[in-house]
Amino acid sequence: MLRTNTCGELRIENVNQTVTLCGWVQKIKDLGSLTFIDLRDRYGITQLKLNIDSDSSLNQIAKNLGREFVLQVTGTVIERESKNKNNPTGEIEILVTQINILNKSITPPFTIEDETDGGDELRMKYRYLDLRRTIVRKNLELRHRMALETRNFLDKQKFIEVETPVLIKSTPEGARDFVVPSRMNKNQFYALPQSPQTFKQLLMVSGFDRYYQIVKCFRDEDLRADRQPEFTQIDCEMSFVEQEDILQTFESLTKHLFKVVKGIDIPEIPRMSYADAMKFYGNDKPDTRFEMKLVELNNTVKGKNFKVFDDAALVVAICAKGAAEYTRKQLDELTEWVKRPQIGATGLVYARHNTDGTLKSSVDKFYNEEELKKWSESCGSEPGDLILVLAGGEEKTRKAISELRLEMGTRLGLRDKNKFSCLWVIDFPLLEWNEGDPNLLASLAGRWHAKHHPFTSPKPEDIHLLDTDPGKIRANAYDIVINGVEVGGGSIRIHNKDLQAKMFEVLGFTKEEAQKQFGFLMNAFEFGAPPHGGIAFGFDRFCSLFGGAESIRDFIAFPKNNSGKDVMIDSPSEISDEQLKELYIKTYE
Ligand code: ASP
Repeated sequence: MLRTNTCGELRIENVNQTVTLCGWVQKIKDLGSLTFIDLRDRYGITQLKLNIDSDSSLNQIAKNLGREFVLQVTGTVIERESKNKNNPTGEIEILVTQINILNKSITPPFTIEDETDGGDELRMKYRYLDLRRTIVRKNLELRHRMALETRNFLDKQKFIEVETPVLIKSTPEGARDFVVPSRMNKNQFYALPQSPQTFKQLLMVSGFDRYYQIVKCFRDEDLRADRQPEFTQIDCEMSFVEQEDILQTFESLTKHLFKVVKGIDIPEIPRMSYADAMKFYGNDKPDTRFEMKLVELNNTVKGKNFKVFDDAALVVAICAKGAAEYTRKQLDELTEWVKRPQIGATGLVYARHNTDGTLKSSVDKFYNEEELKKWSESCGSEPGDLILVLAGGEEKTRKAISELRLEMGTRLGLRDKNKFSCLWVIDFPLLEWNEGDPNLLASLAGRWHAKHHPFTSPKPEDIHLLDTDPGKIRANAYDIVINGVEVGGGSIRIHNKDLQAKMFEVLGFTKEEAQKQFGFLMNAFEFGAPPHGGIAFGFDRFCSLFGGAESIRDFIAFPKNNSGKDVMIDSPSEISDEQLKELYIKTYE
């Protein structure tokens, strides 16, 4: 080893020891006859003291040092005069006797400190430097711990990790596939897996019984802050189980991770039907850290000549506790906020439940105090509360009030990132009508689309609706939601060939198309497929949630930017004509 110790481990007990450290120069303080250097490695920062007066060779070297130079330093551990309580090594420093420059560095494009001066793009371009920053490194350490503890837990539960292939066949699961041309098979393409879904089901047919994999998945979707074209799942599957068994097993995994990684005891995870989640939160991934449930006011407010409410398919309110003090200015600003295209409401009606018990609304012309009392009763408002009402088309308004609820939750400080509220959302609909989802191929518009994926089993009691009312069928499908983030989802699968074939038919596949794309799975089901089901956790999201961050990017070593680009290696990029020709690919303007 080039070192005897790391930059994070020396303490007052080590005083008088001769040590050798290696690391990067974080900071140089030149005080004339004395020079101080902060030397950093993965484990911490240790202060070096160079007594330049007494050693001219050190003087020579010190003059030529710069930030991010890589040094090997030998010296004696001494007690520091001015101690730094914020640094675990802050009671000591190294009185340096020898410096060996292992490598030079040009000046880094941004400061390698927690509070850096580098913007997003710059840090992405020099991601390897960004990763030197303690806060970014800590995120990856957390990720490592999560993966390790997941493996420990699942291993104890007899799950085995099996690797499934990355070059597979296009089996659309809800998004577009990334495809890879095959040089050896003219005009043919592999697809990168959106998840190992069909493979893990085949492993159940093989009798593996309990499978997991911490695995890369790829989806060619429009990107958002919490999406990446390639991401990681904790992917799991079990045989001879019912929904209840899966919920219990993965509730235990979730609790285990919270306990060992964050020291938090999570109580039993409540369950909510999809229908209730939509009704009370307007959202299938409700943030249950706070209440503020939606209250439908259709029956309370209609017929008072207020056209906006009379014409609306849905009039819905939330009661913001303690917000009656909101000023006119704040309410005007909130009205502008709900009118933004991302939210899409046409306006905002409010009623203050004043601390003296009186009620005052923005539509007093139509609703007298008596009427407002009914609003208050429906919403359960108390003196000091603010009732916010949106009205309009059913779906749009529900979505808008759901956003408003989250916004008010944030404004009222109800979404503490150190507080965790877990929830199972169950009984999802099996299918949804695709009007033309931009994330799907255009040819899939005007058809039923599997809400989870085409391998999800309908609830047995709803199977009879397959021919008559597919939209009403509920699935044995579930999501685990933490603080309003969908952390995982899964389902009990179809394990019967005929039912699977029927499902493809409902999804608008011809028999031939279904056979061509999924024949391998349906054939396998004819060889004794066990009942099975599973789940996958979005590992990057899970980690970012544990780390208290919004974006998953900070928890991925080398992420892509918002346009799906890796600006460090400059990818995606063009390939040579020679490569294109070998792959039988023509390019387009
Ligand atoms: N393959 C599914 C997904 O990626 C998860 C599952 O059903 O197990 O969402």
